[in-house]
This record gives sequence, C-alpha cells and structure tokens, in this order.
Amino acid sequence: MAIDRFGREIHYLRISLTDRCNLRCVYCMPEDMTFRPRTELMQDDELLALMPLFTELGFNKYRLTGGEPTVRANIVDVVRGIAGTPGVRSLSMTTNGVLLGKLAAPLKEAGLQRVNVSIDTLNEERFKRITRWGSLRDVWAGLEAAERAGLTPVKINAVVVRGYNEDDVADLAALTLEHNWQVRFIEMMPFGEVAGFQQGQLVSFAEMQSRIEARLGAMETVDDGKLDGEARLFRLAQAKGEIGFISSVSQPFCASCTRARLTADGKLRMCLLREYEVDLLTPLRTGASTADLKALILHATWNKPWGHDLAGDVIPLNRVMSEIGG
Ligand code: SAM
Repeated sequence: MAIDRFGREIHYLRISLTDRCNLRCVYCMPEDMTFRPRTELMQDDELLALMPLFTELGFNKYRLTGGEPTVRANIVDVVRGIAGTPGVRSLSMTTNGVLLGKLAAPLKEAGLQRVNVSIDTLNEERFKRITRWGSLRDVWAGLEAAERAGLTPVKINAVVVRGYNEDDVADLAALTLEHNWQVRFIEMMPFGEVAGFQQGQLVSFAEMQSRIEARLGAMETVDDGKLDGEARLFRLAQAKGEIGFISSVSQPFCASCTRARLTADGKLRMCLLREYEVDLLTPLRTGASTADLKALILHATWNKPWGHDLAGDVIPLNRVMSEIGG
C-alpha cells in the first residue's frame, strides 16, 4: 500500500500516454508548443513493465490522459495491456473525443471502461476559437460513439475561460436535462508560460453557479454536497444527469487527494500543481531492479506535497497541463 506522510492512501494513477495533441486549447498550451522527442517518452514495453509495480503497491484505479491519449500509436494495444494487468480495477480515459468516432468500440473491446470527453462550448465557432482548430461536429460524433460502445457513464469536462465561453455554461448544464451525463465545470488552473492568461481569465465556481441558476433554476446538491472524486455534484429539477464543479482554485480538495500522475516521459508527479517529480524512466532504462523501482514509487508517494499553494502565488513553472496529464 502506498501511503503519504499525511496518511493519505494513494491508489489512483493518471497516466499520460503522450504529450502530443491534435488540438491546441488556449488554456492548455501555447500555439507553437514544441513536443519532446519520442525517444524521451515511455515506449509501450516500458509502460507495461511499470504497470505491475503500481498494481502490486495497491494502485487500482487508472485514468489515461495526455496530451491527447488517442493520438498515441498502438493505443488499442496499449489499453489492452494496461487493462489486462492484474489488479487494475478501474480504467477510464480523458479525451477530446475527436478520434472516438472510430476508436470508441475497439477501445471498449480492449478493456477501457469509461470516458470523460472535453467540450467547452456547444457553439461551433467558439469551439474553433478555444481549440484553435477543432471541429465540434467530430467531438459530438465521438461522444455518441462512446455511448453506443458502452463507455459509460459518459462525463463531459468543460473548462470555463472568460472572454471565450462563460456564456455557454448554462447551455452545457442544460445537456443534463435530456442526457444521463455528468457535465463537470473545471476552474482553470495556472501553469508555466500560460499562467498569466489562465489567472486573468479565471471564472469562479460562484459565477458559474449563478449563471446556470439564472437560466435553468435552482440546483440541488447531490449526496449532501459530498465530493464525488474531485467534483461537487448538483442536479437541476427533472434532470436525467448531474452537474459537477471541480473548483481546484477556489475550493481545493487536497485533503482527499489520492492521485499520482505518471508523465509521458516517465516522471511520477505527486501533485498537479507542484513541481515535485521522481524519475522512473531513467532508472528503468539503466537496469534498476523491480525492488529499486518500487522503492522509488514509495519514496515519491511518501513525499507527496500536501497540496497546492495558488493562494500564496506558488505556480508550477516546469510544465504546462498537456505535459502533465490532467
Ligand atoms: N486531450 C485530452 C482532453 O482534452 O481531455 C486529455 C488531456 S487534457 C490536459 C485533460 C483535461 O484538462 C481536459 O478536460 C482539459 O480541458 C483540462 N485542462 C487543460 N488545461 C487546463 C487548465 N489550465 N486548467 C484546468 N483544466 C485544464
């Protein structure tokens, strides 16, 4: 069991399968982003060699992310390998959905259980402006393919950015009236060279809530307002689905964090918003034993930072979001 020095049991690993992406969302990375050479990234056999170490240490919940996980070569085989590792209880993916139209069914067959699809607006023009070149129609087709394939319950992630999509919050929330989806609004977090933009355009939980209620009526808390993972859940009257708020900036949930992140270049990052990382790929490549690698994972876990300090203006500068894996 991997435990940190504050007594939190760390059993949830988010694995970034690539730092590359087929979109360039304004809040995620700069337009002229340069990606790491492929040789610096974990190869399929390296990732699959690390998997049993994590499961044997009690990690049983996994989410695949990126960059955009579906652009990784051999994605279906990689998912099959991860899903087939004894001890993997839950396996989901966060994706922009662009390639799900053709990949949803094979991914489900390979062992993927669920997807979160990122959609920040239902307006095609605004979608293009936020993603710099994406097509909402492709993403919508991907979302429908995910439902048909049984990658359910589907969750939708929306990051709200002032000047881009704060007017779309109520339209997105209204999707829950007709669909049994969880639509989750994520407060924008600051990273690296995009931090200034991210902090300037932040839309708070309170503002999102009042925009939704002004159009759609009062929301009721689900489960007495208890956190579902990182999201606080609400429901509109008569709605089939739920609305979630992930308010990492204004209402941090660090005390209940059980996550670690494995970056595409093989670093174990213990807090999204702290620079602390432990390299696993170099030791793996230079012949470290299974016991050595497990000791590194336990060391990283023990030293997991308590949480972020955005209030104290401590912003992680060493990577942007797409290089960590959200
Ligand atoms: N490409 C995939 C996608 O679009 O879902 C997976 C990677 S993306 C980094 C994971 C999630 O992080 C997405 O829902 C994205 O909207 C969110 N995200 C990106 N930058 C963010 C930021 N600065 N603050 C909060 N969420 C962010």
